[in-house]
Amino acid sequence: MTRKALVLALSLAAAALPSLAQEQVLNLYSARHYSTDEALYSNFTTATGIKINRVDADDAGILARLKAEGAASPADVILLVDAARLYKGQVDGMFKPVKSKVLEDAIPAQYRGPTTAEGIPWFGFSTRARVVVYDKARVKREDVDTYEELADPKNKGRICIRSGSHPYNLSLFGALTEHLGEAKAQDWLKGLHGNLARDPKGGDTDQIKGVASGECQIAVTNSYYVARMMRSSNPQDRAAMEKVSVVFPNQQSWGTHLNIAGGAVAKNSKNPAAAVRFLEYLASPEAQNYFANGNNEWPVAKGVKVSNPALQAMSGNGDFKAETIPLQAVGANQVKVQQMLDRVGFK
Ligand code: FE
Repeated sequence: MTRKALVLALSLAAAALPSLAQEQVLNLYSARHYSTDEALYSNFTTATGIKINRVDADDAGILARLKAEGAASPADVILLVDAARLYKGQVDGMFKPVKSKVLEDAIPAQYRGPTTAEGIPWFGFSTRARVVVYDKARVKREDVDTYEELADPKNKGRICIRSGSHPYNLSLFGALTEHLGEAKAQDWLKGLHGNLARDPKGGDTDQIKGVASGECQIAVTNSYYVARMMRSSNPQDRAAMEKVSVVFPNQQSWGTHLNIAGGAVAKNSKNPAAAVRFLEYLASPEAQNYFANGNNEWPVAKGVKVSNPALQAMSGNGDFKAETIPLQAVGANQVKVQQMLDRVGFK
């Protein structure tokens, strides 16, 4: 090699170094379907130089993919939008042990999956309530202010709800099974199914629109879909929201059902340190704002305040009673709930 070629080779090697350092990539398997999360990921990349390579699927799709990929899975971080699916990922051995004082300090214990004997936790990053929306001209609030009343004959032919076996409903029904016991929960599911205005179809937003259009009078939906329509720039959405009211059920008893969106480190992650760094970032005040507030959810990290007028308006400044039951119980009830749904013919 000539002296000139050597100098060239050395300078090329030096030039390659920073780009190698920037090549670090984190593979994120995400069930979050919210465009506001984009800023979150690019901020993380700016701050750390770690690129995010995202694979989108729903909760069940992600768990199935992890299972199929096995030890060869490139996944580093898993984000799911349902506590029961996080529970399932944990018990099916899809997650890796994590020890992070940052996460333990930031996230209250009730929003974390219990750490297994192997030291495998999952972490909640935001919460959403499963609320009732009703036609304020045709329905009395006191007829829909508990989940139990949704199964009462007085609400026959009035209710719109998405598929019974969607994770949001499986978790709500799993929680109800915990509160009522299995026999009463099955009667409740039968009553609810008997009260439907139409066969289940569409997502939560479609149920709210069903009330606004008069096809039904009562809908069950996650809170963020309500807030999103309240904040929508589409005049039709705003007109729809003029016709409806929101109730947080069971304020006089066990409280409104809360679900959790959260994450864990993938079992076969090749970059566990970067994966933990990303989860720690999600618990930071800045990220909590994008992650939770951006999608009209409540942040879970200690000391993080939400300032979201739509959420505040619908929940009485966030001052509502939320259910407090062990999340693993909701997760463990899923199989039972699916069997009950099959028995009562609730698709
Ligand atoms: Fe959703």
